[in-house]
Amino acid sequence: MKKSVSLLFILLCAAVQAAPVSVTSPDGRLAVTVSDEARYSVTLDGKDIIRPSYVGFNSNRGDFTVTEVTGSQTSRFEGAYKLDRIKKSEIRYDYNVLVCTLTNKAGDAIKVEFRVSDSDVAFRYVVDNPKWASIRILEENTRFNFPAGTTSFLTPQSDAMIGWQRTKPSYEEFYFLDKPLNEKSQYGHGYTFPCLFKVGDDGWALVSETGVDSRYCGARLSDWDQLDGYKIEFPMPEENDGNGTVEPAFAVPGATPWRTITVGSTLKPIAESTVTWDVVEPRYESKHEYKFGKGTWSWILWQDGSINYDDQVKYIDLAAAMDFQYVLVDNFWDKNIGYDRMEELVRYAHSKGVDVFLWYSSSGYWNDISQCPLNKMDSPVERKQEMKWLQSIGVKGIKVDFFGGDKQETMRIYEGVLSDADDYGLMVIFHGCTLPRGWERMYPNYVGSEAVRASENLVFGQHECDIEAQNATLHPFIRNAVGCMEFGGCFLNKRLNKTNARGPIRRTTDEFELATAVLFQNPIQNFALAPNNLEDAPAYCLDFLRGVPTTWDEIRYIDGYPGKYAVIARKKAGKWYVAAINADEAAYTIDLKAIAEQFGSPATLTVLHGGAQQSLAPNYKAKPGSKAAKKANLLSIAQNDGAVIVIE
Ligand code: CA
Repeated sequence: MKKSVSLLFILLCAAVQAAPVSVTSPDGRLAVTVSDEARYSVTLDGKDIIRPSYVGFNSNRGDFTVTEVTGSQTSRFEGAYKLDRIKKSEIRYDYNVLVCTLTNKAGDAIKVEFRVSDSDVAFRYVVDNPKWASIRILEENTRFNFPAGTTSFLTPQSDAMIGWQRTKPSYEEFYFLDKPLNEKSQYGHGYTFPCLFKVGDDGWALVSETGVDSRYCGARLSDWDQLDGYKIEFPMPEENDGNGTVEPAFAVPGATPWRTITVGSTLKPIAESTVTWDVVEPRYESKHEYKFGKGTWSWILWQDGSINYDDQVKYIDLAAAMDFQYVLVDNFWDKNIGYDRMEELVRYAHSKGVDVFLWYSSSGYWNDISQCPLNKMDSPVERKQEMKWLQSIGVKGIKVDFFGGDKQETMRIYEGVLSDADDYGLMVIFHGCTLPRGWERMYPNYVGSEAVRASENLVFGQHECDIEAQNATLHPFIRNAVGCMEFGGCFLNKRLNKTNARGPIRRTTDEFELATAVLFQNPIQNFALAPNNLEDAPAYCLDFLRGVPTTWDEIRYIDGYPGKYAVIARKKAGKWYVAAINADEAAYTIDLKAIAEQFGSPATLTVLHGGAQQSLAPNYKAKPGSKAAKKANLLSIAQNDGAVIVIE
């Protein structure tokens, strides 16, 4: 008896160890410290990345915005998994874990759990009080307080219920680059994830969230507060046309989604991070096998008028001629082709070795969309009937468009569509939608989401073409760093319209467009090609697109500055594809010898640049800076230009 009492005493001592407590990354460079008043801070090599910032929330079970750390525990979270649709195919992860008990004035406790890898901090609230079976979170006081001198690379949250048929917010706003923290957001509603920060000369930090499903809402960052920094904000009441709560709730024991901070002295850890998927779990197993690949998509250049049987045949033939696996038939197919003839069209596609994706509106009460099919995806009753039919005619996937915002009930619709679609062997692409938050690992039939100012905007206006290169340099370090991105680009038309003779003028070179096929990552790439490209585009461009992979084994950051240039390499089946694009007035120079040395000094490189594809052998003997070195080794990439270097 006496022995067990003393053991209990030792355990209690461990539980009330004095704050502050801290946890460092396995390599010791990244550290999280939690003060006794429950403020966390993050340092890299001893330098501030996040200054002391509040954690906590207010809930129907009590106010946890002001708490004290009354206990802490450390452990390790390490392992491995395979995933066929993100930056890497085999992922090993290693995090040190710190769980702090936060006790409020009423004496009730919640926990905050931090996981720290060599470049990532993930944290969430865990609620396991046995007195409660459920909890509703009224407001979070989760903060991100950056040091003075930090600048931001952010895209604002829009007003709700504005834009095309009152469909916003849909994560399709412009970026504002290298801005001071105290600059007001465009709409006054803060910023959508992911949010990139340059912390003076000390490093970069990408803030986002992951693991959001039917059990919470999507969140965003507030505008900057001079005293306390950014705060986690819940959806706006006006989203979903005012329907649905903005206060997420979940069953207890349970946890909130993870908030993530990826940190590096360069952008390398951000471009290569897998934290978004490391800390989440699959929501269900699939009995189906899903195949990724490339597709054609008539709507992007030929628009609504092309959703008819004959034009779709042309795009199926284009897919077949390009060795692509898919055709995506966009809005109005039910009206302009009809259900019966769609069965015929799918049979035609199959006869050409092409599989079919069909478009749907998410429908429901949350916007005024008239693009059809309508009201097939919002209710499980109609949804399952429709999906049964899709499966029966051999359709392989759906693209669901025009969602209502980030409320918890919208997250339930995303999850319901995904879960039901998997029952019928259907893959799912989302457009007009929220950011995916770990969904590549959580949902086995999930393909990708738009959640970006995607290729359609290039077709809609010249200004967007003028800034195409600038936008493209952002995505490897911001949007595409945390999730698959359904951009739908890679134009080879010179003018972005059906005629290729009118409409917005593409400012970029062909090789720039090819480079985005590697730079932008989505396991199915619906490229913005048109049948005329078979005749008018250079053969080496078409051949490249026939062969370029859409799933990858590895990623390697080479260089980049958001808004100026980006150089990223991806590996598949032993071949490295180096993609470089430049948006800056100053030419960007690639040293082929240095690239070759980085990838094991192959004898020749296949270089797509300057209107040609050539095999180049770096001149290893040339003196750096010499004429010979310039001639043989230096590739100069002008503004709006790009290059792809294939190394095998
Ligand atoms: Ca869109």
